[in-house]
Amino acid sequence: MTVAIRTLDDGAWISVNDARQVSVSDIWMLSRGVFCECEPASILLETFVDANADGPIITADAVGQCLECGTRDSVDGLPVGQIVDGEFRPYDPDAVQSILEPKPN
Ligand SMILES: [Zn+2]
Repeated sequence: MTVAIRTLDDGAWISVNDARQVSVSDIWMLSRGVFCECEPASILLETFVDANADGPIITADAVGQCLECGTRDSVDGLPVGQIVDGEFRPYDPDAVQSILEPKPN
């Protein structure tokens, strides 16, 4: 099964199988140390740079800003959803995403 994943509209959306599925305007909660020192960090995404499939998991590389401390940085491999039975199921941005490994200092 091939899943077509790409970014659209200058990084405003992630398209899965030619349907706009994930909007950049969501606020994603990341566990501490992944992006900044906030626990959790509320990251307002600005742009999707790239999107990939890691098995059934759809991940995004994005640029975002922490609403708490103002840190602006890139996020690599943010899990945004997964493919279940050929259909995209988005993750809940309000659930803390802790799959990412913290950056080494
Ligand atoms: Zn922060």
